Amino acid sequence: MKHYDYLVVGAGLFGAVFSHEAVSRGRSCLVIDKRDHIAGNIFTKNVDGINVHVYGAHIFHTSDKRIWEYVNRFAEFNNYVNSPIAAYHDETYNLPFNMNTFSRMWNIRTPEEAEKIIESQRNEYIAGMKKERGLSDDEEFVPANLEEQAISLAGRDIYEKLIKEYTEKQWGRPCTELPAFIIKRLPFRFIYDNNYFNDRYQGIPVGGYTGIVEKLLEGADVRTGENYFDVMNSAGTCHEGVLSDGERFTFSKLLFTGQIDEFYGYKFGPLQYRSVRFETEKLDTDNFQGNAVVNYTSKDVPWTRIIEHKHFEFGKQPVTIISREYSSEWEPGAEPYYPVNDEKNNALYEKYRNLSESDKDVMFGGRLGLYKYYDMDKDIMAALDLAAKELA
Ligand SMILES: Cc1cc2nc3c(=O)[nH]c(=O)nc-3n(C[C@H](O)[C@H](O)[C@H](O)COP(=O)(O)OP(=O)(O)OC[C@H]3O[C@@H](n4cnc5c(N)ncnc54)[C@H](O)[C@@H]3O)c2cc1C
Repeated sequence: MKHYDYLVVGAGLFGAVFSHEAVSRGRSCLVIDKRDHIAGNIFTKNVDGINVHVYGAHIFHTSDKRIWEYVNRFAEFNNYVNSPIAAYHDETYNLPFNMNTFSRMWNIRTPEEAEKIIESQRNEYIAGMKKERGLSDDEEFVPANLEEQAISLAGRDIYEKLIKEYTEKQWGRPCTELPAFIIKRLPFRFIYDNNYFNDRYQGIPVGGYTGIVEKLLEGADVRTGENYFDVMNSAGTCHEGVLSDGERFTFSKLLFTGQIDEFYGYKFGPLQYRSVRFETEKLDTDNFQGNAVVNYTSKDVPWTRIIEHKHFEFGKQPVTIISREYSSEWEPGAEPYYPVNDEKNNALYEKYRNLSESDKDVMFGGRLGLYKYYDMDKDIMAALDLAAKELA
């Protein structure tokens, strides 16, 4: 029977980085995933020469030179810069909010004009709200919900056209029923700059993300279509597993990158997530929307975004592939995408985390194991930190 130093559950980015670090330090790893492919949510599938981001658009961006150099060991990155477009009825705006947005919205040209309009809309709203609440000029207006927060930061025009209905589609609730903290600040740029991210490094791996994970997993044994719970239930002892073809193995330690609440049988209750549904379609045209990402900010369109995958890699194919994204409530069985890190869920996660402290041979990692939204660079950093501690 084969023995592994580590059983890694999840062939996503976190599991793959940990496994790469372990293998390069002479440890043995078996990496399993319940899906029929590797790469977790960064999986890209080549269809007609176009790399389709199957679980949502992924743009790599970081300000950490060490992480940028690390990923560049496994792929060549192109010079894609994320510059999304917002479609509101028949109007089109650049995102993030910058001088191109303001100039289109108010037919103005200078930063001074834009600042003046925003400032006057904010002040007018705050003055009105103070009056409504019977507050004096010296008393502070504290926004009670996301709508109040957003208008007092952005003014009415931007809120109504670019924030309100989009946010309501994302969360499935009116902005007046969403907490103010969801929007802490709004990044306004008073320059003509459509680059969505502020990070120093940005790009898309040429040929897609799956190749990165393939390289990271070199040297490990990898089995897809294997659910950890079935693998363990079939064996019955805690350091032994049986794969679906009957092959038995033992392992010293476990890294689990699936849902921590599921690992513990939802003992304290399930953690909440937001989910996304994708409808992917091949179209017989070479250029559908002229941009990789278009946000639909009005509620009469049911989807939140359309991704046109070929534009991530400047594709010249005669056809195109698009994915419409619909935001949805998560229910067991659906793909858990975004953790809902509110007070209630964070407290519940803490209970699971405390419980996990007593499991000395089990480590948790990744977005599901740590119940935390991680961009890819942060996910890699967390995996490298764990590897440095564990493999020292
Ligand atoms: C819609 C969306 C868009 C995003 N866009 C960006 C972006 O533009 N830029 C960016 O930097 N980041 C982005 N991210 C974040 C990025 O997806 C994550 O950082 C990354 O995928 C995390 O990898 P992971 O290994 O932690 O988790 P995952 O990729 O989820 O991997 C976990 C794996 O564990 C497997 N698993 C779970 N349970 C079991 C089990 N019981 N048995 C066996 N296997 C199991 C799962 O099948 C999965 O493959 C986005 C995330 C989402 C949701």
